[in-house]
Amino acid sequence: MIVIKIGGSEGINYDLIADDLAALVKEGQPLVLVHGGSALTNQVAEQLGHPPKFVTSVSGYSSRRTDRRTLEIFEMVYCGQMNKGLVERLQRRGVNAIGLSGLDGQLWQGPRKDAIKIVENGKRLVLRDDYTGKVERVNSKLLLGLLDMGLLPVLTPPAVSYEGEAINVDGDRAAAATAAALQAETLIILSNVPGLLAKFPDESTLIRHIPAANIDQFMSVAEDRMKKKVMGAQEALAQGIGRVVFADGRVAHPIHRALAGEGTVIGK
Ligand code: ADP
Repeated sequence: MIVIKIGGSEGINYDLIADDLAALVKEGQPLVLVHGGSALTNQVAEQLGHPPKFVTSVSGYSSRRTDRRTLEIFEMVYCGQMNKGLVERLQRRGVNAIGLSGLDGQLWQGPRKDAIKIVENGKRLVLRDDYTGKVERVNSKLLLGLLDMGLLPVLTPPAVSYEGEAINVDGDRAAAATAAALQAETLIILSNVPGLLAKFPDESTLIRHIPAANIDQFMSVAEDRMKKKVMGAQEALAQGIGRVVFADGRVAHPIHRALAGEGTVIGK
């Protein structure tokens, strides 16, 4: 089993990814996909007059401010254009994909953060109307059932809280939880960079291999958005996933390349 997270940043080539996915499916490789949609969400939010806001937690992590309106826009883009765009690309290539959000069938369940402590202009603030949280439980029975029926699951945030609310969750970490629940051999995280760069944005400084035991040392190399991926990788490895590969989602055959060890391989 391979779990593949497809990023939502600018430059990712969804057609080339779909070509490669169709080839893997023909080879008989069981797959589950998770995708993002941040760049398009930012664009649509601007167009709808509710521009994106990012907040920084007291521990230094940045995340999307998700008020109720943002959650609605987030769902339009992630569950709408991004999810259906990928499902259509796969259907066009003869792959029977099925798109689901983490809300559907309690696929991804977890706690909603009841209060978010942030720092804004040097001041500490507490937000209580934010719809964010994290994935603690994965409905692997549902996923295995879909795979058994010959369907390729294409998963997207939001997740569902224990109270049944839609919650924005980090896609990389949701993919890590999914890989762990399915005991996947490999988690591939495709983005618009060749992998983890020692000196971002210099692509010649690609870090090719990180032994699982050393991952902590690399946390400081990654800036905010990449930090979530490193955290996801760490969580996946801690739960028994053999390896995590950060790879380039802009090139031809991105998944075959990642499987061949191109990118940043974390693990054994
Ligand atoms: P996606 O939406 O594709 O999952 P993100 O935008 O969340 O991707 O994260 C990828 C981004 O992380 C890159 O485009 C880059 O701007 C940023 N980044 C920060 N630090 C690093 C680093 N050390 N190596 C690679 N990318 C980094």
